[in-house]
Amino acid sequence: MDKNLMAILEKRAARTIENLAKNNMPGFYVKTREQAVEKVAELMKEGELVAVGGSMTLFETGIIEHLRSGRYSFLDRYIEGLSSAQKEEIYRKSFLADTYLTSTNAITEAGELYNVDGTGNRVAAMIYGPKSVIVVAGINKIVRDINEAVERVRRIAAPANCTRLDTGTPCIKTGYCVNCRSEGRICCSYTVLGYQRQKDRIKVIIVGEDLGY
Ligand code: SF4
Repeated sequence: MDKNLMAILEKRAARTIENLAKNNMPGFYVKTREQAVEKVAELMKEGELVAVGGSMTLFETGIIEHLRSGRYSFLDRYIEGLSSAQKEEIYRKSFLADTYLTSTNAITEAGELYNVDGTGNRVAAMIYGPKSVIVVAGINKIVRDINEAVERVRRIAAPANCTRLDTGTPCIKTGYCVNCRSEGRICCSYTVLGYQRQKDRIKVIIVGEDLGY
């Protein structure tokens, strides 16, 4: 990325981290995806029970590979050939994890996390259950405010995810959300995580690269 543009984006990341801290969600900035894996390893202990929310970012950064290293007890929802019932069981067990790793659909400069889920397992675990939650997000996920977060999901994240998952929803054709009532709809639960009473449970790693949708 152009270094002048990066300098501006890093100021934006610093502002966001300052406000995340005010909301009791400590934030960390790392420049590269490799450093993101190192930070994750630093925030976790060997042998921990770990689970993840559905995320392209966790694959792109190599975090999924790190979790598969044998260092942790990983509830791996991505094992090939899992049946729906086995996945469902992993989702339920994930609430008991020591650490839950996920990305987020958007982070506002005011220090809020905005997410939209289809099944709801990811947002539910972010809100309650796992002892610790680590959110990893590319710098492209930072938005000015909740309105921009909503737009980001309607115009980028959700249609891109629908295209990836081949949901058969109308946004695949239009390229933007038309608030469908399709069977394949992935937008069912809308959440904003703001000030947290449980300090430091949610930690946010912002990576100075474009990651995920
Ligand atoms: S509500 Fe439907 S049309 Fe809108 S983004 Fe979600 S799946 Fe696509």
